[in-house]
Amino acid sequence: MANDQFQMRLNRKEMKPNDFTCRMCGACCRIKDGIVRVSDAEIARIAAYLGMGEAEFIERETEVAPDRKSLILKSRPDGSCAYLTEDNLCRINPVKPDKCRTFPFEWTNPDSVEVCPQLASLR
Ligand code: SF4
Ligand code: SF4
Repeated sequence: MANDQFQMRLNRKEMKPNDFTCRMCGACCRIKDGIVRVSDAEIARIAAYLGMGEAEFIERETEVAPDRKSLILKSRPDGSCAYLTEDNLCRINPVKPDKCRTFPFEWTNPDSVEVCPQLASLR
């Protein structure tokens, strides 16, 4: 498929779960300057999963987004998400934020094909 057609398909949110098998490489969880916003509902479900109170979770596990419009999950100094394990698994997978759950089906960024080897292989 030509690159522009593939990008149009992504832009139109035409990628479906049956079209995409995640390689579990963790590359999308290691994007330098990448952010994962969390809503109030997501904070509540992640905090409950971790056995923490919401206030404790907010204090320990989140920070204010650069645009100051929301809270985001904390990243490590190398840019990787604090919940990414050494095995490239998500420590909060059952309750991970919608942003993580819906990639690349409901959203992508202009550089997502460069980041994600599975998307690159489908081009
Ligand atoms: S919450 Fe999980 S899926 Fe989302 S960026 Fe962090 S490690 Fe990756
Ligand atoms: S970069 Fe792509 S293949 Fe790798 S974990 Fe993320 S979605 Fe899966």
